[in-house]
Amino acid sequence: MEKFDAANNIQDLQYFGEFGGVNPSISDSSTYTFLSAKTMGDTFEGNTEGCYLYSRHSSPSNLYLSEALAKMEGTENANVTSSGMGAITSVLLQLCKSGDHIVSSRTIYGGTYAFMKNFLPGFKIETSFVDITDLEKVENAITEHTKVLYCETVSNPLLEIADLAALSKIAKKHNLQLVVDNTFSPLSISPKLLGADVTIHSLTKFINGSSDAIGGVICGTTDLINGLKDVNSGACMLLGPTMDSLRAASILKNLRTLHLRMKKHSENALYLAEHWEKDGLKVKYPGLKNHPQHALFTNMMQGEYGYGGLIALDVKTVEKANELMEMMQHENLGYLAVSLGFYKTLFSASGTSTSSEIPEAEQKEMGLSPGLIRFSIGLDHDIERTYEKMKACMQKTGIL
Ligand code: PLP
Repeated sequence: MEKFDAANNIQDLQYFGEFGGVNPSISDSSTYTFLSAKTMGDTFEGNTEGCYLYSRHSSPSNLYLSEALAKMEGTENANVTSSGMGAITSVLLQLCKSGDHIVSSRTIYGGTYAFMKNFLPGFKIETSFVDITDLEKVENAITEHTKVLYCETVSNPLLEIADLAALSKIAKKHNLQLVVDNTFSPLSISPKLLGADVTIHSLTKFINGSSDAIGGVICGTTDLINGLKDVNSGACMLLGPTMDSLRAASILKNLRTLHLRMKKHSENALYLAEHWEKDGLKVKYPGLKNHPQHALFTNMMQGEYGYGGLIALDVKTVEKANELMEMMQHENLGYLAVSLGFYKTLFSASGTSTSSEIPEAEQKEMGLSPGLIRFSIGLDHDIERTYEKMKACMQKTGIL
C-alpha cells in the first residue's frame, strides 16, 4: 500500500495569525462585507473562490480546520460540521434521494443506526443492514436503487474491521459511494487510500481528545464538498450543521498532538488487552492475534499509531458490568461515561447505552452481549499500575 503519513501532512501546514501569531486568528464574524455588489451576486451563484459570504457557508477558522483534516485523510477537500451526526446525516441526505437505498454495516454507532432505520424511511430512503465482514452478503444486499455502501472502519462497539479495499471494489462495480466513518482509527487507517469515496469523523472523540467539544467532518472530493455547501441544494448549507469558529480554532490546536495521543492510547490498550487475555477474560481488541481481522487491520495500517484505544470486554451480564464500572469509577480508574478519546479511561455497557437504539434481538444476533463493556483506554502514565488496580476490582466483583 502507498506510504502515507497523515501526521506529517498535518504538521507541514503552516498558518499565521494576522499579527504574526503562531496560531491563525479566530474569525469572529457571522457575515462578511463585499467591496462590490457584483462580487456578492457572483458569490451567491457559487463562485466563492476567496470570498466568504456568511459563516453558515464557511468561515476562515472552519476552513483552516477543514484543510488540516483533508490533509490528514488525503482527500481533495473537507467540511467541518457541528457534530459527527451532522456530518453523517448531511452526507447521507446529499447522496440519497427519495426511492434510494443504502447498504450498511449492522454494527455501527447507535445514532447512525437509528437515523437509517427510523428517520430516513420518512424520506423513502431504505437501508439494509448486513454483516460487513461477509462480502458475499454485502454484495447480495445491493439493489438497483442502492446509492451508498456505509461502514465504520472499526465498528462501534464490536470492533469488527471492515475490509475497505474489498468493499471499495464492490462499490465501484455497482457504482456506489463508499462512505466510511473512521472515528475509531484516525491516523492509523486512511480510508481514502483504500478506496473510500467519503471519510467521516466525529471530531468529538480522539481528534479533539479533551471531551470539551462536539464536532464532525466530511472529507471527500471538492465536487462533493462544494455540493454540500451549495446555497441552493447543499445539505450542510440548508440543514445548517455548522461548526462554530471558536470551536474550530480549539479543535485545530488539539489536532496537532493527535499522533502522540494515538500512540499512547494504542500502547495502553494493547497492554491491558494482552493481560486480560492472559487472565482468561473474554476480550476483543484488533491488536490481539486472535481477533478475527487482526491480519486485515495490520495490512491496512499506516505508521506506528497502533490498533487504537478501544477494547470490548464481555463480562457476561449487565449487572456484573455495572458493578465493575461503578467500582472502577470509585477507584478513580476512569469514568462511567459514553464517548471516547479522552485522557482518562471511559467505560460504558454498550447494549444499554450507545447501542441501545438497536433492538435486543438484533443485538443478540450480531453478538452484542448485555455484559459487553466498551473501554476507551486513556493516556495513563503507568498502565501497569492501572492494570493491577483494575484486576483488584475484577477480583472483588468475582469477574476474575
Ligand atoms: N460515529 C461514531 C463511530 C460514534 O461513536 C459517534 C458518537 O458516539 C458518532 C459517529 C456521532 O458523533 P457525535 O456524537 O459527534 O455526533
